[in-house]
Amino acid sequence: MSDLTELYQQMILDHSKSPRNFRSIQDATSQVEGYNPLCGDKLTLYLKLDGETIVDAAFEGSGCAISTASASLLTQSIKGKPASEASDLVNKVIDLLTGKGEEVEAAPKLMVLSGVKQFPSRVKCAALCWHSLEQALTGESRRVSTE
Ligand code: ZN
Repeated sequence: MSDLTELYQQMILDHSKSPRNFRSIQDATSQVEGYNPLCGDKLTLYLKLDGETIVDAAFEGSGCAISTASASLLTQSIKGKPASEASDLVNKVIDLLTGKGEEVEAAPKLMVLSGVKQFPSRVKCAALCWHSLEQALTGESRRVSTE
């Protein structure tokens, strides 16, 4: 195991044990429920937008370590960013998870998720919150399932 892999695993573990922004937002402008039936991951993603800016992001739910860590990293990465940048980030992270992309320049911290592509059965766990974010930003649906 490389040092980098070990570092990524430690960060995933840290975020899953003490997830950041793990709460609801009472005056959220967007709220999306995500569900991954393969693993049983469930989460609710809350966004608060002021104009085009995401002023707050949080999540609640129960899921495996990877889905929780991914959502924790997500909320940290998009807070304070314009919605268009968050949208870009969704595409970059999905590419990273599926092995199509190599880098997330806008948010280097998200590189920890690159390790997940070695475990195809866990890709949907990590992608769940990102699909939910996409829905929250486009407002097309309130419920997201990875199936
Ligand atoms: Zn999972």
